[in-house]
Amino acid sequence: MILTDSHLHSDFSGDSRAPMEQMIQRGIALGLRTMCFTEHMDKDIVTDGLSFEVDMEAYRKGFGALKEKYQNEIELLFGIEVGIEPRLRGFLEEFVRAYEFDFVIGSSHIVDGIDPYYPVYYEGRTEEEAYRRYFESVLENLDAFADVDVYGHLDYVVRYGPNKNRYFSYEKYRDVIDPILEVLIGRGIGLEINSGGYKRGLGITNPCPEIIRAYRRMGGSLVTVGSDAHAPEQIADEFGRVREILLDCGFDCYAVFRERKPEFIPL
Ligand SMILES: [Zn+2]
Ligand SMILES: [Zn+2]
Repeated sequence: MILTDSHLHSDFSGDSRAPMEQMIQRGIALGLRTMCFTEHMDKDIVTDGLSFEVDMEAYRKGFGALKEKYQNEIELLFGIEVGIEPRLRGFLEEFVRAYEFDFVIGSSHIVDGIDPYYPVYYEGRTEEEAYRRYFESVLENLDAFADVDVYGHLDYVVRYGPNKNRYFSYEKYRDVIDPILEVLIGRGIGLEINSGGYKRGLGITNPCPEIIRAYRRMGGSLVTVGSDAHAPEQIADEFGRVREILLDCGFDCYAVFRERKPEFIPL
């Protein structure tokens, strides 16, 4: 059983309405041992009137009070999901050091100024071109900023393409995915296994099992598991299936980060 969820949002993130305390109570009811909150920090990003920049003072205070209140019931960890873009290099270098984070997820949410969540990202190019550009930009992001513990939902773009993951495969994009995996492994950055793909209609994790298997084959050994829940009912979603996938891909443990150091837990 995987009893740690390392990718969680609450209403400190612009796209969640769930109070953190409700998230925690659900985690306790599910029997989780550890929950790591990873609120959004996408600097200067406002979409549909929602800011994706967390209010750090409010987050720190709110989290701190709940961590103390629930200390005998569940372990709560203080994380962040930073949206990486090359323009943010200087900001992110300072930001991740300015707070005592347990865990830092680096994610690509914006490519050339556009979130692939929006149809405009696919206009004027084929789905394959749009997906390729996404993976190329991940490599550019890692070149700009790599002080992260894991890379989040590596194939995020397939959640939102016109055909989602119907025509997507690791093999088809291997030439742009393998260089990313090489950088992750070379720099000791882990691969986040994100079960949010299930509830978004992919029927599978982000990244897909073929990418997880490739990461393992190339020598990668550091994975974390998160649901990317934005509401209580999504917490630890499909973790049973994630465990099966990881075992099948050759992993025997997953990691939990505290003070930015991994502890490996048998699957
Ligand atoms: Zn994300
Ligand atoms: Zn997230």
